[in-house]
Amino acid sequence: MFGPLSFKDSQTQSNELETQCLLCPLKFNLKTCLPFFLKHIFDDHRIVIEDAQHINNIQLYICHWREKFAQRPIEELVPAVTISSSDLKYFVLSMLLNDDKQLRHKLKLDAMLERQEFERTDTAFKTACLFCKLSFEGKRCDYISHLSNDHNVRLGNPHNLVYVDDLIEHIEKLLNNLKCLYCEKTFTDRITLKDHMRKKQHKRINPTNTFYDKYYATNYLEEDYRWDRSGEYADWKDVEDTITCLYCNLSDKDINKLCLHMSSKHQFNFYNVTKHLDFYQRVKLVNYIRRQVHRLQCILCDASFDNADKLESHMQEVGHCRMPNVKVFDQPEFYFPTFENDSFLHYLESIDD
Ligand SMILES: [Zn+2]
Ligand SMILES: [Zn+2]
Ligand SMILES: [Zn+2]
Ligand SMILES: [Zn+2]
Ligand SMILES: [Zn+2]
Repeated sequence: MFGPLSFKDSQTQSNELETQCLLCPLKFNLKTCLPFFLKHIFDDHRIVIEDAQHINNIQLYICHWREKFAQRPIEELVPAVTISSSDLKYFVLSMLLNDDKQLRHKLKLDAMLERQEFERTDTAFKTACLFCKLSFEGKRCDYISHLSNDHNVRLGNPHNLVYVDDLIEHIEKLLNNLKCLYCEKTFTDRITLKDHMRKKQHKRINPTNTFYDKYYATNYLEEDYRWDRSGEYADWKDVEDTITCLYCNLSDKDINKLCLHMSSKHQFNFYNVTKHLDFYQRVKLVNYIRRQVHRLQCILCDASFDNADKLESHMQEVGHCRMPNVKVFDQPEFYFPTFENDSFLHYLESIDD
């Protein structure tokens, strides 16, 4: 589990232009001189950073590792490998290291959340509608709703979308090239294309095309698992997952039936309990409960038990199937699911009262 990072000091540094090297006092502007920096750490410190150009906020990434290397020698933290022809050993910072992988994921998630927050509130978004003469100005989510309400074009839940400008630009390119949004077949003219998209109900993006993953915030929550967008619209659903109760082994394919069970058997009405939380807080709450139950610890009083039955009866008897203080679970470490592919998380937005 990835503990909360203290980025406070590093953040102030990231506003400065120069970042100090991982192992020596030299400073580099990583925005403009990344290749110089990479060459320096390769030549002078025998460090390789895999795929450095794709790391979000590389300044914070470097600060994180510099702090680690100040505490413990690099030999203890990073495996050394021999790179072909030479006998020299090199330290490779890559996603093969758990710490590195989680750090990159956290930076990516943070960058996405920051962008999403901007897109949610920015009212200066301007675009000519792709499907009518409207010249739109306002919030991105309202344009997405316009596409859905007036043109029946389904891009997904506006609250789950991110990097919307990019997405719109991509769609515009497809349409200009007379390609169908969904099947990407090319047509001879705009009218035939429009007809095809309407008749075949292809006014939506292709959920199996991984290119679109980056536009859906929920895809960022897990490091490896690619979220399918089947939860977005019921009619896209082709895989049925079973969802497991947060407190016992019962599972169901219907999240709302499962919630009914939790509310009658465990006196935990997920909808009521979490209605004042935002989406990410709900994600964190689920991950927190999963972790506590997995560790055989009560979610409210943190008491430990020998087995799942004892934990369940404790929480039952003393009424501890209750949400703890938000501060307990609203921590960065709970962005990460306790169980891989926890389908409860996929259906969070489908829970009704
Ligand atoms: Zn250096
Ligand atoms: Zn329009
Ligand atoms: Zn099509
Ligand atoms: Zn249960
Ligand atoms: Zn308890």
